[in-house]
Amino acid sequence: MEITLVRGDITQMKVDAIVNAANCTLLGGGGVDGAIHRAAGRRLLEECKALGGCKTGEAKITQGYRLPATWVIHTPGPRWGGGSHGEPQLLENSYRNSLILAEEKKCRTIAFPSISTGVYHFPLDLAAPIAIRTVRDFPARFIETVFFVCFDKKTFQAYSSALNASR
Ligand code: ADP
Repeated sequence: MEITLVRGDITQMKVDAIVNAANCTLLGGGGVDGAIHRAAGRRLLEECKALGGCKTGEAKITQGYRLPATWVIHTPGPRWGGGSHGEPQLLENSYRNSLILAEEKKCRTIAFPSISTGVYHFPLDLAAPIAIRTVRDFPARFIETVFFVCFDKKTFQAYSSALNASR
């Protein structure tokens, strides 16, 4: 499996699945969640309403509607609370459970945002290595390419460092 870093907006990605850094309600929010709901259209919210929320670190899948991506995998990452509340394990769970759902749909390409490092304040220098390692260690069958879509320069730099350190 190949890991590719890109600078940009995940809503533009023409991949089998994009991952949404959601919250536990799955009813939309700010940041990447808001951008995905705006781009996908109101039918995404309708489908999400029927899902009954999602626990932190778990994941649920919907259609992509008006997005170029076929599927949206919604996962609430952990809110940073100092690091002693299981945050690293929960972040790892978000990545792994998203990959498991993508495999179930036989996705070949998947794009992740930097889960939890926005409004949830997970430190970027800790989050990036967890993201890279969890994806690298995942036993993929169908997935060929994993994109990390970095919205700003400092996110791109953190994921670049983590990727270089893992090689
Ligand atoms: P969380 O609540 O999990 O922290 P946020 O959406 O606040 O989620 O932030 C997660 C990351 O997503 C941040 O790096 C933020 O800059 C980034 N982001 C915001 N909008 C987009 C977008 N359209 N595409 C990709 N990444 C985005």
